[in-house]
Amino acid sequence: MDIKRLENMRLENKVWLSSPTMHGEELEYIKEAYDTNWMSTIGKNLNEVERITCEKIGCKYSVALASGTAALHMAVKLAGVKRGDYVFCSDVTFDATVNPVVYEGGIPVFIDTEYDTWNMDPVALEKAFEIYPDVKVVVVAHLYGTPGKIDEIRAVCDKHGAVIVEDAAESLGATYKGQQTGSFGDVGIISFNGNKIITGSAGGMLLTNDKAQAEKVRKWSTQAREAAPWYQHEELGYNYRMSNVIAGVVRGQYPHLEEHIAQKKAIYERYKEGFKGLPVTMNPLNEGVAVPNYWLSCMIIDAEGMCRQVRSETEALYISEPGKSCPTEILEAIAAVNAEGRPIWKPMHMQPIYRNNPFITEDGDGRAQTNAYIAGEKVDVGMDIFDRGLCLPSDNKMTPEEQAVIIAAVRKCFE
Ligand SMILES: *Cc1c(COP(=O)(O)O)cnc(C)c1O
Repeated sequence: MDIKRLENMRLENKVWLSSPTMHGEELEYIKEAYDTNWMSTIGKNLNEVERITCEKIGCKYSVALASGTAALHMAVKLAGVKRGDYVFCSDVTFDATVNPVVYEGGIPVFIDTEYDTWNMDPVALEKAFEIYPDVKVVVVAHLYGTPGKIDEIRAVCDKHGAVIVEDAAESLGATYKGQQTGSFGDVGIISFNGNKIITGSAGGMLLTNDKAQAEKVRKWSTQAREAAPWYQHEELGYNYRMSNVIAGVVRGQYPHLEEHIAQKKAIYERYKEGFKGLPVTMNPLNEGVAVPNYWLSCMIIDAEGMCRQVRSETEALYISEPGKSCPTEILEAIAAVNAEGRPIWKPMHMQPIYRNNPFITEDGDGRAQTNAYIAGEKVDVGMDIFDRGLCLPSDNKMTPEEQAVIIAAVRKCFE
């Protein structure tokens, strides 16, 4: 392909990071809900979506909810988080992973990330139990569709008698040692948010093998009504149930999950090929033990390939240098060709809202290392991935030609 020609191209249709991909069946199931008048939070689409989810994930029970965040909230309640409890949480993730802990009055303690999978570091997790031996709940996410070090994390949690809430919002369809993510936690969740690998436009699902847990969530999510002729309440309720219309969209999407994964995988491989020779690496796949769903293609620039970049809380500046680049420059170049990239999730321990929460690295108290960072010493892993990494346009409707334009734009940043 003529790279020079591609360099000056601007994409006619915007390529999104990851947008909904519809197939037609969704409309039929929505229409079915309409025609049968199940325009409610009860109906066949809901029953089917729960059945299909259990079949796919290999869990006994699933409860369809309004969002992945709602599912996480219910999961955190099931895990028994109470006001003032410390809860160990993934650090590099979407804030929806940790906010539900705070809804229940818990205090997130952020656990640093490892480079092998960009997920929670089991060594840092063990360190955290040394400092907080009484912690009973660990919330773990699988970033960008790559399963984390599940066995190692499970071993640490078992040793300390802690339960796992597994946030598989980004990793639906990914497997670890042949088993679906979402099925490893004591309770798990998935999301059908509009940018996820399949979508309901919104929606989420709680996953469990425990019948009593599933029944509790069914009750809590529908305003916690007791068995009585009137509205009788003994517990706090929520209006968290998924709509039967939304469930129709999810039901129509499920048959296309594997096809979406294959498209995302092809996108990842084209980027990998296209970036040959640049001082960059694609996001890790946890090969050998896991098969990711390739939800987002990401890259990280080698430390030697980074030009100078500084970020305040809300702005970024960089100094362009021949042969080098940085996420800010690359994201600008991607935007300039009419495509959407994103920074890596900014670590929770760096977020103003969580600035007073503890943060644990392999070396112990991560907050105590701030001076070392200012002095230019080794930073924590999450901050480093955030500094050097970015998410590339990963929409499964992107054509190879459109992707070639994006690849050319990225390559040009390193000239
Ligand atoms: C999307 C996402 C969620 C939240 O799901 P919603 O359905 O948007 O509420 C939670 N955790 C992670 C890691 C996510 O990416």
